[in-house]
Amino acid sequence: MIRQDYKSKRSKQVAQASDWLHSIKLRWLEIIGVAFAIYLISFALDFDDDSTSISPTSEASSSTTDSQAETPPSRTEFKLQPDTTVSSSKPVSQKRLPLTLNWPQPLEVAPELPTEPHSNRSVEVTIKSGDTLSGLFSRQGFSAQDVYRVTQNKKAADYLKKLRPGKVITFVSDPEGKLIEVNYQLSKNEKLIVSKEADGFDAQIETKPIETRHAFASGVIKGSLFTAGKEAGLSDNLIMKLANIFGWDIDFVLDIRAKDTFAILYEKKYLEGEFIGNGNILAAQFVNQGEVFEAVRYTDSKGRSNYYTPKGKSMRKAFLRAPLNFMYISSNFKPRRFHPILKRWKAHRGIDYRAPTGTPVFAAGDGKVIASSYNKYNGKYIFVQHGNGIVTKYLHLSKRSVSRGKRVKQGQTIGLVGATGLAEAPHLHYEFVVNGVHRNPRTVKLPQAAPINSKEKARFDLQAAPLLNGLQLQQRIYSDVGAN
Ligand SMILES: [Zn+2]
Repeated sequence: MIRQDYKSKRSKQVAQASDWLHSIKLRWLEIIGVAFAIYLISFALDFDDDSTSISPTSEASSSTTDSQAETPPSRTEFKLQPDTTVSSSKPVSQKRLPLTLNWPQPLEVAPELPTEPHSNRSVEVTIKSGDTLSGLFSRQGFSAQDVYRVTQNKKAADYLKKLRPGKVITFVSDPEGKLIEVNYQLSKNEKLIVSKEADGFDAQIETKPIETRHAFASGVIKGSLFTAGKEAGLSDNLIMKLANIFGWDIDFVLDIRAKDTFAILYEKKYLEGEFIGNGNILAAQFVNQGEVFEAVRYTDSKGRSNYYTPKGKSMRKAFLRAPLNFMYISSNFKPRRFHPILKRWKAHRGIDYRAPTGTPVFAAGDGKVIASSYNKYNGKYIFVQHGNGIVTKYLHLSKRSVSRGKRVKQGQTIGLVGATGLAEAPHLHYEFVVNGVHRNPRTVKLPQAAPINSKEKARFDLQAAPLLNGLQLQQRIYSDVGAN
């Protein structure tokens, strides 16, 4: 009895078990069918993350929760897609909810929905010349609509319009390949970040702070300012800045002599401890043929920066000493050479600057081009009319860059040195005419530079003194070191 009972109990159990197994089998078919249907629907609706759409159940398996945790961006995108699929997809996912709630345990392995390694992908692209925004997008597999969405943000559009070769643009996409962020390195410390938000793309500029340190450099001229500057470790740009500060007082082509000296206090810029470039010259001294010139940078209360003498007179004057870029002239004097300019001056009423063909020629002062032409004596030439009845003339050019009637700014390139017309070798013939009379630009008296605004003077003194003192102190330290 007991045995039978046991037996019948057992057969009962077996029967129950087989029933249960049978039902499981049927349910499996159901489940697979449902899962497949869901897969098809979600595929058709272009769902971004399938695990997201089925997982909102209390029985959600641990595997889906994992993937969920790793893919928040796709969830956001799912909710926010600004086209019609959003509204149609919402009811679908709600309908599905009760279904999944009824699914038995084994389901945790059932959804054969495509799952991928879940992490965002980031691709850096260096912009080449000729690249367009849509070209860059499509090469990374993004659509014209992605370009459209990103550039709907005005700030993003403004910056991305100006793609600069050599700069880096970064595309970040979610695990499903949808674009979620575009980064564009604007400068060493500035980055445009365009990221996907609820109502489209949002653009921000991320700025890292730049640290500025003061540095000192000095040198003695042996061949040219350029080579001396290089020996002192200055960049081309810094040498040019130095020459520009004194360009109204010193002719860096013809006035420079051996044993002339310079000293500068300038800024060096660092980003996260790494040197990224030079800043401005803060104070400078140039000793030319025994004459001492000093200048200090001052930023006035309106934010305008200029160079002044220690007494507060502007370094800027109406005319540059040398109307050409001395940097192109590798060696502009021979130390023992007799200086022939003044002797030649009377003979041909102008100054000759020997310089290689192609050396940029500058307008000596602000003015208006009154001639830009050619004849067999002058070759290609330009005349510029300035204030106070002054006309400057530039002859023998290989190229003219401005036409008659154009306004020019002091220091603007108006042409290139050449040997056109009556010229044996490439040089610039420069004339300075005051009220129809040829004058020597090296000796002619010109209006004095304006002093600093009296309202700014106290502020100027406060800023200038420590810079000039700093420059002097450094010079003493360096000359002591040199003497030892
Ligand atoms: Zn000449």
